[in-house]
Amino acid sequence: MKTGRRDFLQASSLASLAGLVMPIGLRAQEAAARATRGMPSPRIKDITVIETEPGRRLEVVKILTDQDGLYGYGDATAGFRDELVKPAVEKYLKPMLLGQPTDRIEDLWHQCYYSSYYKNDTVLNSAIGGVDQALWDIKGRQVGLPVYQLIGGKCREAAQIYMHAGGTDPSAVVENAKKLVAQGVRYIHVDMGQGASVPTLGGQQGFDREAAIRHMLKIFETFRAEMPAEIGLGCDVHSKLDAQQAVQFCKDAEKFKLYFVEDPLSPEDLDYFRQIRQQCDTQIAMGELFNNPHEWQIVISERLIDYIRCHVPHTGGFTQGRKIAVFAEQFGVKTAWHAPMDMSPIAHTANLYLDLTSYNFGIQEYQEYTDPYREVFQGCMEIKDGYAWASDKPGWGIEVDEKAAAKFPFGSQPTDKTNPGGWRMSRLADGTSII
Ligand code: MG
Repeated sequence: MKTGRRDFLQASSLASLAGLVMPIGLRAQEAAARATRGMPSPRIKDITVIETEPGRRLEVVKILTDQDGLYGYGDATAGFRDELVKPAVEKYLKPMLLGQPTDRIEDLWHQCYYSSYYKNDTVLNSAIGGVDQALWDIKGRQVGLPVYQLIGGKCREAAQIYMHAGGTDPSAVVENAKKLVAQGVRYIHVDMGQGASVPTLGGQQGFDREAAIRHMLKIFETFRAEMPAEIGLGCDVHSKLDAQQAVQFCKDAEKFKLYFVEDPLSPEDLDYFRQIRQQCDTQIAMGELFNNPHEWQIVISERLIDYIRCHVPHTGGFTQGRKIAVFAEQFGVKTAWHAPMDMSPIAHTANLYLDLTSYNFGIQEYQEYTDPYREVFQGCMEIKDGYAWASDKPGWGIEVDEKAAAKFPFGSQPTDKTNPGGWRMSRLADGTSII
């Protein structure tokens, strides 16, 4: 049927009029229906938190929708304050989210974020991060695509990983590094802390910062003398030094050409990154203790670090991680997301999907899954020849076996009653407490 200009104008006027009288919410729903080609928008029917301890304590948010068989999982683990996550999700976020459409992730993220009024708390951010990842999982399952396809697709085939080599002395570290290299790993990370034990005035086991520095430099020397030049070496200072020692350590480490020194400073000492930058070329990674945009904005925008390595769920989940990655790209800062075992394989997969889709990806931390992790989380990422590979399954590609999760009850492993589930603090020889 031929449509004239007058008919078109009439139709447009009617549509505009309808738009004026139609409530905003209905207009948005119509627009969403057109954008999704009429696919009904799932609505949140229930939210639960699965707690399990297949090695470390983990919390997983499960969101059920009103569509048969459509649900999603997200990691909400808040390390060392684990038991606070379940009430944060179930008592505070769930009542607000029930009945809301799952396809408005950005909107729901901000509703959750503003609902507490006070912002950037690790526990609350982790709760939001769990909900956020579960919503992305649902969106992927809804359309039958892995989440990386929803944000532009891969820009690389797989993600280069680094793994940790421990040991009480430099030769043991190198022997363990050789075992990893034999498995195809090309980047080896060593942690500051060995060879630094000292008795404290209070009769406890303490930490000698200067001894730790000397021990770490000895490891670097031994590693460079015995390992092939093409094997990458990095180290985690874990914010254990004072600021002046950290600046000097980065200068001393320069000649060993590390892929990065991680967390040489604590978030309280960010200004000292300028001194490190002015005095040496050692590459710097920072971010696992960040949960506030004011912390990462300055070090990225002033190019004071080379790698941003936030603990993505603690910043608010995949949505926030994506924004950090894009922000860092503008300043030539690469990503190296934190990936400890007190983070479920769902969050590790979210890291991997950021790695695969971010042009400024640098390197990915990886620790091998034990059998209990693989039993509870089916579909963990695979490692081949030193790279992490994604599956092409919808969402995160991971199913949580809740019966298996119940076999590893949350809180089943012994903990210090005076510091339940807490970080193992240390002390200097004079008794001063440090991280
Ligand atoms: Mg670290």
